Amino acid sequence: MEPGIRVGIGHDTHRLVAGRPLILAGVRIEHDRGLSGHSDADVVLHAVTDALLGAAGLGDIGDAFPDTDPRWRDAESSLFVRSTLDRLEKLGFRPVNLDVIIFAEEPKLGPIKDRMRHNLAGLLGLPPEAVNVKAKTGESVGHIGRKEAIACQAVVLIAPRNHAAPPSGKSL
Ligand code: MG
Repeated sequence: MEPGIRVGIGHDTHRLVAGRPLILAGVRIEHDRGLSGHSDADVVLHAVTDALLGAAGLGDIGDAFPDTDPRWRDAESSLFVRSTLDRLEKLGFRPVNLDVIIFAEEPKLGPIKDRMRHNLAGLLGLPPEAVNVKAKTGESVGHIGRKEAIACQAVVLIAPRNHAAPPSGKSL
């Protein structure tokens, strides 16, 4: 593949259930329920992984990390992001910026958006200003509004590793 600037999109939804921790973007959040799933069910890191895989034309998270594989039972989802970044690096790519939207009726994510942003930036090796985290409610309708699930959408840009930074010298 000829490396160029490429964009990828990711989306994921997990059910909210009792008896599970709530982990979003690698941040453990105090809440009376958590997300169900084979791994730690971090819906944000799953969407980010899918966006990275998509940008590089590498399929999806189900291909790369099947939920039938016992290695991924209760796995920290940061493993999926790191492993995918390794694959991108071998292909000559690096992430440039990331934008995510988290859809959750509760808990209120405003107070921890910045922690999630910094955690994502650290994971992707990006400065915080290259990562953006938005939080939306479901306006009391649908599976988000009824507090049955949390979902996330992610968009990522990747570029050749030797692609020049803009003249400002900033990593963006
Ligand atoms: Mg998932």
